[in-house]
Amino acid sequence: MKTFFDLKQEVRATGRCHGCGGCVTFCTAINYGALHMVDDVPRFKSVEKCIDCGLCYRICPVVGDLDEHIKKQTGWSAPIGRILETTVAQAKDASLRARATDGGVVTGILLHLFDTGRIDGAIVIKNTAEGRKPILATTREDIIESAGFSFNTAKGITQLGETYSTYSPVAQALGSLIRQGLKRIAFVGTPCQIKSIRKMQALKIVPSDAIKFYFGRFCNANYDFSGGKARELEEFANCKMDDIRKINIKDDLLLHHKDGTIRKIALRDLDFAKRSACAFCDDFTAEYSDISFGGLGASEGWTTVITRTPLGRAVFADARDAALDFLSIDENLKLDSTVLQKLQESSARKRAAAEERQAIRK
Ligand SMILES: Cc1cc2nc3c(=O)[nH]c(=O)nc-3n(C[C@H](O)[C@H](O)[C@H](O)COP(=O)(O)OP(=O)(O)OC[C@H]3O[C@@H](n4cnc5c(N)ncnc54)[C@H](O)[C@@H]3O)c2cc1C
Ligand code: SF4
Ligand code: SF4
Ligand code: SF4
Repeated sequence: MKTFFDLKQEVRATGRCHGCGGCVTFCTAINYGALHMVDDVPRFKSVEKCIDCGLCYRICPVVGDLDEHIKKQTGWSAPIGRILETTVAQAKDASLRARATDGGVVTGILLHLFDTGRIDGAIVIKNTAEGRKPILATTREDIIESAGFSFNTAKGITQLGETYSTYSPVAQALGSLIRQGLKRIAFVGTPCQIKSIRKMQALKIVPSDAIKFYFGRFCNANYDFSGGKARELEEFANCKMDDIRKINIKDDLLLHHKDGTIRKIALRDLDFAKRSACAFCDDFTAEYSDISFGGLGASEGWTTVITRTPLGRAVFADARDAALDFLSIDENLKLDSTVLQKLQESSARKRAAAEERQAIRK
């Protein structure tokens, strides 16, 4: 039976741990304090409390265990997972669009599900005074405040200074589910986080059974600008981190400044800040989601949407008239094949880079 000792060697020591926190949150001995996260890295807190159950190893998204199971469960097919429909949309509500990352579709759908009583809450990232935090949102206000995407700016003793990161360990908010006992939750996360929760569900780990909707976001990589790297970005982009109002990613990283200007940075120029684990990751479009969302393929103010499962299609169809706006049918038809081509090309590039990186490690 492989345990956290093996995770340490196979995942953490090889630089592939992306700090999702899944192993710590769902450690069987969590109440006894076997594991804890230190600066986004899982560590033994008290090695003698570990009961060698192997759960942490099996749910780690980096480990191949259960991959075939979740592929079957989600009807995965090559090259980028199951696709029922690809489209471009935006939230009807202009105030939501104004605070959103792209077209506000993720938040628009979450609000629609909440207002119609289909979910009790959603696991999202919320902007708080201490930075962006993973939360279980159970009010309209919390869901609205999760719209948008900025650097996760944390200042505090635990960080020993300033960090600017695009990564947020969303899975850790699942702990709130255990405490609150809610049963119908939507989860918004990166492809790796979606995979992790699907694995937990496959193993019937409470409270992953409460996740009813999986909303994945496209993800080329996450970036960590801690330490001197924030200064490096400031020099390169000729800007101040504190002047950046929001960021979004299409073909490039777009820095939206508070004065309204937008600065484009090619993603290849950000390799210096890419989280090391992301170099091994082969999923760009969140292939195991019910619905995937991204900026690539859509113009500014719009979100690209892939519905993947019958459940995702039903949710999207239901939100369509109530909460979302679309391009005309002709415009959408024209876009459909080009968007799909862009997604497939980006996915193929990411997969090839990951395979190359994994081959070097072997
Ligand atoms: C770290 C990151 C990397 C991305 N990389 C790409 C990319 O390479 N190419 C691309 O096309 N699109 C990428 N996206 C997706 C894109 O930026 C938008 O999230 C997507 O288009 C949805 O936009 P929206 O306006 O509909 O979402 P909104 O309505 O603004 O909702 C945004 C949702 O994202 C969640 N969120 C915000 N920050 C984080 C975070 N750090 N971790 C997890 N969830 C978060 C919020 O909880 C919220 O539910 C990335 C997003 C993030 C957060
Ligand atoms: S108790 Fe189980 S889940 Fe926790 S660290 Fe040990 S092997 Fe992993
Ligand atoms: S990737 Fe997640 S589950 Fe795997 S070792 Fe890292 S924190 Fe734990
Ligand atoms: S690139 Fe992969 S490992 Fe990195 S944050 Fe995105 S989904 Fe997770």
